[in-house]
Amino acid sequence: MFEKILIANRGEIALRVQRACRELGVKTVVVHSEADRDAKYVKLADESVCIGPAPSAQSYLNVPAIISAAEVTDAQAIHPGYGFLSENADFAERVESSGFVFIGPKAETIRRMGDKVSAKDAMRAAGVPCVPGSDGALNDDPAEISRIAKSIGYPVIIKASGGGGGRGMRVVHTEAALLNAVAMTQAEAQSAFGNPVVYMEKYLENPRHVEIQILADQHGNAVHLGERDCSMQRRHQKIIEEAPAPLIPARHIVRIGERCAEACRKIGYRGAGTFEFLYEKNEFYFIEMNTRIQVEHPVTELITGIDIVQAQIRVAAGEKLGFKQRDVSFRGHAIECRINAEDPYTFTPFPGKISVYHPPGGPGVRVDSHIYQGYVVPPYYDSMVAKVIAYGDTRGQAIRRMRIALSEMGVEGIKTNIPLHQELLLDALFVKGGASIHYLEQKLAAQGEVKKQTT
Ligand code: ADP
Repeated sequence: MFEKILIANRGEIALRVQRACRELGVKTVVVHSEADRDAKYVKLADESVCIGPAPSAQSYLNVPAIISAAEVTDAQAIHPGYGFLSENADFAERVESSGFVFIGPKAETIRRMGDKVSAKDAMRAAGVPCVPGSDGALNDDPAEISRIAKSIGYPVIIKASGGGGGRGMRVVHTEAALLNAVAMTQAEAQSAFGNPVVYMEKYLENPRHVEIQILADQHGNAVHLGERDCSMQRRHQKIIEEAPAPLIPARHIVRIGERCAEACRKIGYRGAGTFEFLYEKNEFYFIEMNTRIQVEHPVTELITGIDIVQAQIRVAAGEKLGFKQRDVSFRGHAIECRINAEDPYTFTPFPGKISVYHPPGGPGVRVDSHIYQGYVVPPYYDSMVAKVIAYGDTRGQAIRRMRIALSEMGVEGIKTNIPLHQELLLDALFVKGGASIHYLEQKLAAQGEVKKQTT
């Protein structure tokens, strides 16, 4: 096992990784920006190094500063968390060429999976079902592009190969709009991701977002830890996640889970990873792979009893996975609500000082958060300030516990989206389970209409 790990991230995930390290008896170094100097997790770490001013480009994305922090503190490995540099293959390469272990897959795997066209190629080859589409990048031939769209059938979606974070996508309903949409997505992809390559997929009208968590070691072992349903999304950003996914027969999950584990063995994957699928009419369609820990990993931890962050660290240190697929069992139901510092109705970020904070607790409630009373939410980063996770023997119990938890939770001084979560937890279709990825936006749009008509 490592003696010391550097955590190249901030906020709740920096604290989560730190907790995993502590339990493993590993010392921690936290790097931070000037804006995060007073964060409690920075003080809790064994060592901390300020790597630059508040803007991420000068701190959390500052590769030379992070590498030198690892050098001066004698860290042996670097955990990238999620976001920031976690899926940056050049960073992973720099980390390893500087003599440190990157806690994640090999740089070449990150590169291959980070490019959605090559990821889909790899998955098709490994027998993972994909959304029907252009089977590769679109070329410049307008007749060819129209032919592909026609053969897939409208609506289609044009997606940037280098895209991420829900950006670089455009839905096209008619042939008349097709070529213009392709050109616009290419231009956007070039400016946002430095890569103009786009591809085409069938636009699924009512899918759910269902993803498979996997863990793989460096000795050829890979297991899946079941699925998560992350269909409650706004602007392609997940808001509520749960495991297991309601109303999907377990045998379907077993089949797709085993395909994913097999794909990991085939591509020589190591570490934790997630295969994201759209699920419609009992079929799974691969859309992308995330080669890092995900925000929503706790729901899987609660139903499997496996600490995914510790497992990541163990396999990075060269250990074999301590269990086989048959040892993985699923018990109960877990739901996670992402608590964001934002206006619950306009979604405008709302950073500032937290004057009052009462975290929830009680049976089956877990809170992953770095905030505290008096903490100032900085305006520079993602607005997520806490994850509340509720566990129950059944989905109904998990929902009830989540409702109680959110009613206990008090955050004053900033606005949060807790009221939106409370509303969703009472929503008839959410309670039934199985809503599509469009459900939340449709609901919000309908409420907007009602508001317009009554004012
Ligand atoms: P990103 O890397 O930006 O998250 P994804 O490929 O994972 O991009 O897609 C993000 C979201 O966009 C999906 O969760 C889904 O809501 C929507 N989406 C992507 N591809 C399709 C598709 N073929 N049909 C319908 N919706 C899609």
